[in-house]
Formats: sequence, structure tokens, C-alpha cells
Amino acid sequence: MQTYDFIIVGSGSAGSVVADKLSASGRFSVLVLEAGGTDQRFYVQMPLGYGKTFFDPAVNWNYKAEPDPGLAGNADHWPRGKLLGGSSSINAMVFIRGAREDFDAWAAAGNPGWGYDDLLPSFKAMEDNAAGADQWRGVGGPLHITDCSRAVHPLTKRYLAAAEQAGLPFNPDFNGAFQEGVGVYQITTRNGRRMSAARAFLRPAMKRSNVRVETNALATRILFEGKRAVGVEYE
Ligand SMILES: Cc1cc2nc3c(=O)[nH]c(=O)nc-3n(C[C@H](O)[C@H](O)[C@H](O)COP(=O)(O)OP(=O)(O)OC[C@H]3O[C@@H](n4cnc5c(N)ncnc54)[C@H](O)[C@@H]3O)c2cc1C
Repeated sequence: MQTYDFIIVGSGSAGSVVADKLSASGRFSVLVLEAGGTDQRFYVQMPLGYGKTFFDPAVNWNYKAEPDPGLAGNADHWPRGKLLGGSSSINAMVFIRGAREDFDAWAAAGNPGWGYDDLLPSFKAMEDNAAGADQWRGVGGPLHITDCSRAVHPLTKRYLAAAEQAGLPFNPDFNGAFQEGVGVYQITTRNGRRMSAARAFLRPAMKRSNVRVETNALATRILFEGKRAVGVEYE
């Protein structure tokens, strides 16, 4: 049995960021347990591979929802990533932050520091936005964001014009001053490759000697001493 200062179960979006932050100082040893395998796969790295990983049991838990009366009793397919980077390695890469109103509701419910204005500096610090920095967006962070607004198919521009004619406001940046309207969203890619949380946060952390990642490691139990979690059992 080995000991670590921190054990992270799951190397998904959250686990990747936490692994990076906890290991950055070099003072703590960090173990990451991931039930799935590597993200070094062609259809994970290539953005359009999204259509392939959507059902692939090699990288996807392939959950099924309960039958839904609103879907005439059908049970929906619920993909979730099962690999380094978790769902950020199989998701659709759309980069739109949560709605200001939701964060502000958290703060209003008695959680100081969770309002949108409180979080905005962290949002900006996280990103390296190809569109450049402004009041709402950041550059120089670990998560590269691609601005596709000039690269879209000509039909997209017609579609946006039609939407505006129908009365919907044009929105130049869904992470900007307001979120409603029509526009071209930004995506988490860099140089044509998927920018997962693993690529942005976990893989840089894996270069540190105080970080160990075990793949194909399914955590089965958290061990407690009293109210303190002291260990993890895994297969
Ligand atoms: C198909 C799809 C498309 C999406 N599209 C978008 C999009 O375009 N834009 C967007 O912002 N969001 C999108 N999302 C949502 C986004 O990817 C997720 O909300 C986010 O990645 C969730 O992060 P998480 O850390 O909570 O969980 P995950 O990233 O899912 O990480 C959980 C990790 O824990 C591992 N794990 C679970 N149980 C255990 C265990 N017992 N032991 C060890 N490891 C375990 C899993 O294998 C996984 O790697 C999409 C998601 C999917 C599935």
C-alpha cells in the first residue's frame, strides 16, 4: 500500500484541474485514479471524432436514462467519458460559460464568492482565447479557445442573418456582456486538436515527479477513520 497527500478519483474536467492545482507547489504528492484508459487516441484528439466516441465503450460509460414519458417512453443515451480527461475528452468542445443568473443565484443562496463577478477573474485566468483579451475574456491561461467566427461555412452567415431578420439579437460573444442571441460559439481546440482538460491541466501536471496517474483503476470504496477520508480501495 502506498500513501499520498491527496487521492483524486476520476481524471475528468474537475479531476484534471484539481490534480494540477494540488501538485503545482511541489509540496504534496498526488495520486489520480482513472477508471478508463489513455486519451492518446485518434478519434479523441481529432475534433470530428466526437461522432465516433459518442457510443464507443472503449472511452464512454454509455449510460442509459430511465424511460421518459416526454420521449414517448424512450430511454435516452447518456454518454460520459471514461478515459483521461473524462467527458472533456469526448465532449462537443463548445466553450460557453454558465449563465450569470445561475452563479448569482448560488451567491444569493448564501455562498459568498460564487457570484459571476467573483468568478470572472478565474474564468479569464483559465483561458487562452485566440480572439484576444477584453473585459470578459483572457489570454495566457492553460485552456486554449479557438475563435471560429471567421472560419464558418458561408451558409452559417446566411443562417445568422435569417435569425436576425426573425428578431433574434446577434451576439458576438456568448461569454461576453450577455448570453442570449445568435452567433458563432468558440470551441476548446488548439491547432486542430481537441483541448481537453487533460491536455490543458492533467498532462502538464503529469510531468511533475509528485503526480502519479493510474489508468484502468476503478475506485470501489472510500475508507474512513471516523469522519476523515484516509484512503481509497480500487480495482
Ligand atoms: C457527449 C458530450 C458532449 C458534451 N458537450 C459539451 C460541450 O460542447 N460543451 C461543454 O461545456 N460541455 C459539454 N459536455 C459536458 C462536459 O464535458 C461535462 O460537464 C464535464 O466534462 C464534466 O466534468 P466532471 O469532472 O464533472 O466529470 P467527467 O469529466 O465526466 O469526469 C469523471 C471521470 O471520473 C472517472 N470515474 C468515474 N467513476 C470512477 C471510479 N469509481 N473510479 C475511477 N474513476 C472514475 C470517469 O471515467 C471520468 O474520467 C458534454 C458531455 C458529453 C458527454
